[in-house]
Order: sequence, then structure tokens, then C-alpha cells
Amino acid sequence: MSDERGAPGRAEQLELRAGPTGSDGVIEAWRGDRRIAVFAEQPTESRSRVALLARESPIDPTEVRALLDALLARAARQPGAALELATSDPLFREIARRLGFHGPLRDPLVAGPPGTTTLQDVMSGPTGHDEIRAALEQLLPGISVVLGENRGPLRAIVRRAVSGISKTFDFNVEPAPGMAPTRFSVPNRSDLLIESIARCIDTTVAVRRRFGRATRLVRRVSFDHSDFQLLHGQHAGSADRSAGVIHFNASFASVAGLTALEAAREQRSSGAGSAGVPAPFNQIDGTMAHEAWHQIQAALEARRSMDGVELRRRLGEGLGVETLEQAVNGGRARAPESWKRAHTRLVEEVSAYAATAPVEATAEMFKLWWCSTGSPAPIVAQFGGVIRELLADFKD
Ligand SMILES: [Zn+2]
Repeated sequence: MSDERGAPGRAEQLELRAGPTGSDGVIEAWRGDRRIAVFAEQPTESRSRVALLARESPIDPTEVRALLDALLARAARQPGAALELATSDPLFREIARRLGFHGPLRDPLVAGPPGTTTLQDVMSGPTGHDEIRAALEQLLPGISVVLGENRGPLRAIVRRAVSGISKTFDFNVEPAPGMAPTRFSVPNRSDLLIESIARCIDTTVAVRRRFGRATRLVRRVSFDHSDFQLLHGQHAGSADRSAGVIHFNASFASVAGLTALEAAREQRSSGAGSAGVPAPFNQIDGTMAHEAWHQIQAALEARRSMDGVELRRRLGEGLGVETLEQAVNGGRARAPESWKRAHTRLVEEVSAYAATAPVEATAEMFKLWWCSTGSPAPIVAQFGGVIRELLADFKD
């Protein structure tokens, strides 16, 4: 370890302890005087299920591995029950899978038989394009992932200059027979977060199957650093509506990138927050849905600009004002009372980021509606009803 933060602490033993009395089933992981993670035991009939409740951020990938090893050792002392890990944390899930845990895309992961996986194995996953493609397809039943054609050296150089990523490769995913494929560009790295890419594909395919022609602008999804704000981690993604490209912050695609992103965020006070989504969804699902909506709305407004006006009018009505713009502008000091109330609801029921612009409000609503597990907030539920109507007859 050359990491300054990790080195001194690493001499201390990692210890799992029962949580404070009165918190039944809580397991705390301590290294010296640092509490690095909190789990909850949720035993099922056949499994010893442990849910990750919280962890320190940033966290070193080797620490994640150490935590999983400690949980496995603990489970081994309770014979007869396989360890099951419930979390939507992308780092935990990726490293767990590389340690032999398995399970469908968003389900709890079940520990495999004890292996002799080395740290090297854990940090270097599939590297060949075909290996990555196969790993993705395994997580995406019913979806075929087709590698893009090899590009000439000149194209590669141009692309590198544009994307800011040294090596990327492409593959295509066709949501349904006859539908134009969406092309994905991902970094070619051994620490690629396979499941995060798979969530991205799965969400894209599901949204495109659900909304058909209205998703015709969801043509490309590119993990890159092409956008200044993406490079600095302020946004997870952005949608280029005219080019039909969704840019995803490439840091979300790799273990090292995500770790660096967490470290950078730690040093900065939180900005205008976008909405979090409930498990089993995570930020990748949420961001993908948010960006896909920008492209859907672009298609909707390109067909009939009045549909965009109608959407904003109906959402404003749901918030007690004439149009969504008034709810967004209700953050201003001299705004009318009704606008202020609508603004407060927009922030509370959707997110602070939703209150920055009408297009961000609808994208945030779509994210929460799409990634909903129970009953969404009233304005989000209303959004779902309105778009079902507006998109029902979308042919072109
Ligand atoms: Zn947006």
C-alpha cells in the first residue's frame, strides 16, 4: 500500500462487532478507532443475509475486499447458511462478484464456494472485448450485446481526442427486432464495473421497449470525459439532444474512477443534489433514466412542441400553479406565494436539482417514476400518468 490514507490504518485489525445494544442485528466493522461500515443481519430461511447500511466514503477497494472476507469468515462459523449480501453499492457488488458472489443484476448476491482468489484476480477482471461482452450478456438475459466493428487507427485517434479516454470500444444493443440499436462506448479497462455497464444497458433497453419510437434519439451512450463538468464530477451524465448522444461520466465505469470520484467529492461541499433512487436501483439506473428522458422529451417536442407546453402545464397544475416554470421560479425572493409553495413541493417531492430548470424537473421526475419501488410522491405519480397519455400514440 502506498496510499497515505490507507497505510497507517492497515496495521490495525479489521473487526466485526455487534452494534450498540438496542440495535438488534446490527454489525459494525471497525479498523482501530474508525468505523468503516455498518451492516444489518436479515436472515432468511435458507440464507444468512447481510445488508450494507452504510460505509465510509471514499473507501479503498482493498478495504471492500477485506470487509467481504470478514463477512465470509463470519458466515463460515455459522454452518449451513450461505452468505447473501444485499446492497446496491456498485463497488461492493463488483468486488463481491469478482470474489465469486453471484446473482441476477439487481438481486442480493450469494457467496460462491470459498476460493483462492487473489487480490490481483479481484482487481483485474475480463479485458478482452469478447470476455466483457460475455460477462455483460450473462447479466442481461434476453438481451444480445454485439461488438461494434473494429475502427481504423485514424478513427481511434480522433475518438480519443474527442472522448478524453485512451481506449474505448463499442457495442450495439437492439432493444427489439426492427428497432434501431443503441451504441454504447465504454472504456477498455480491467477494472471495468461490469454490473454498472449492464445496468446502463438494461435500463436503456427497458425504456426503449416501453416507449418505442419516442426513444428514437437514444442512439448512443458514451462513457467519456468529453464534458468539462463530467471531468470534475459535478454531473454523472449529460444528454446531447441534437446528436442523440448521452454522455456518462467515465469515472462511473471503473473501480479506480469511482474511488477517485468519491475522494474528490469528499473534499467538496455537496452541490445542488439530484434525487437518490431506492434500492435495488442505484445511481447508474437513475442517471441513465434521467438522461434517457431528456432524449424522449426532445423527440416529443420535435413532434409537437405543444406537447412540451402541455406537459409543463399539467405538471404545474399538479403543483398548484399554472405551469412548471412557475414552480421552478418560485425559488426567487419576490415570487408569489403559490409559486413558492410549488417550488418547495418540487424540491421535497423530487429534488433540489429538479428546481433548477423545467427540463431537469421532468428528467428528475422520470428517474424517480422509473426507479420507483413503492408509491412515488404525488407529483411523480402524476408525471407518470401524464406521460403515459402524451406518449401513448407516439408513432414518429
Ligand atoms: Zn439533466
